[in-house]
Amino acid sequence: YGKTQGGNCIIEYTRQMSEQYNELILLESDIRKAFKLKEFTLSYQPKVDVNTDEIIGVEALIRWEHGKKGKISPSIFIPIAEQIGMIAQIGEWVLKEACMQFVKWQKSGASPVIVAVNISAVELQQPNFLIRVKQIIQETGMDPNYLEIEITENSVMQNTEECIERMNELRRMGISLSIDDFGTGYSSMGYLQKFPINYLKIDQSFLRELRDQSGSAEIIKAMIQLGHTFGLKVVAEGVEEEDILSFIRNEQCDYYQGYFYSKPLTPDLIEEKLLM
Ligand code: C2E
Ligand code: MG
Ligand code: MG
Ligand code: MG
Repeated sequence: YGKTQGGNCIIEYTRQMSEQYNELILLESDIRKAFKLKEFTLSYQPKVDVNTDEIIGVEALIRWEHGKKGKISPSIFIPIAEQIGMIAQIGEWVLKEACMQFVKWQKSGASPVIVAVNISAVELQQPNFLIRVKQIIQETGMDPNYLEIEITENSVMQNTEECIERMNELRRMGISLSIDDFGTGYSSMGYLQKFPINYLKIDQSFLRELRDQSGSAEIIKAMIQLGHTFGLKVVAEGVEEEDILSFIRNEQCDYYQGYFYSKPLTPDLIEEKLLM
């Protein structure tokens, strides 16, 4: 590639950089506008008992319908929001919206299930994070015993002592905690005995790799056992097919999420399921 580009390599590289930079600036102002324009919504994906298919919880996942560009994935705009200092605002909106939704579902007589929200590392480290969580719980009338916070494995590794303290406080409030994307962080697993967590969510990449032999079946088995050893419930992410479900059921995985049971759904469709 470098050769065919010849001497234009650096120019090409610089052009790409500045395009990326412009894209970032553009998205920054778009993210700010998205709140005013009400372009963000939440979808909810059921978490299901491996043996009974009973819904035990739902995970709130942010959606952005951009006025001009259409749907933009959170995997793209969340990291940008983190960089430009917008993540706290997004995170607060997500938490508040999810709590209000739980209360609405309760009012319409739906059976209560745990609502999980994703929290980025940056948010957990902000000094007023706990205060904001408490405020939102009060404002919305949310029952914290039905609130779960998902934290990605990578994010809990810095500021360990402070992280543990915050996590303990969340637990004292009644909130449950998950390690998300488990197995993808390049970290020691020592934190499993230190952190006050309830659930391990095995990253979907491992389930995808089950298809092409490799050692990934063994890795999944080991992760389930590891979770159970530490008294945690284990959730498999990204279950798309029946035989994968059979596999994790055999290995005594507790819960799963994935297109095989359901894609993330609108609040109304979730309500229908919870009323049944
Ligand atoms: P995550 O928390 O690990 O969420 C799981 C992702 O996998 C979701 O993508 C979900 O739609 C997708 N998924 C679920 N089941 C399947 C399946 O069977 N097959 C496949 N191929 N995918 C499946 P989504 O909604 O695009 O979110 C991507 C990531 O963005 C999330 O990963 C999470 O890290 C982040 N994210 C989403 N919403 C929020 C939010 O409100 N706040 C923060 N901080 N991060 C969020
Ligand atoms: Mg998650
Ligand atoms: Mg995940
Ligand atoms: Mg993820």
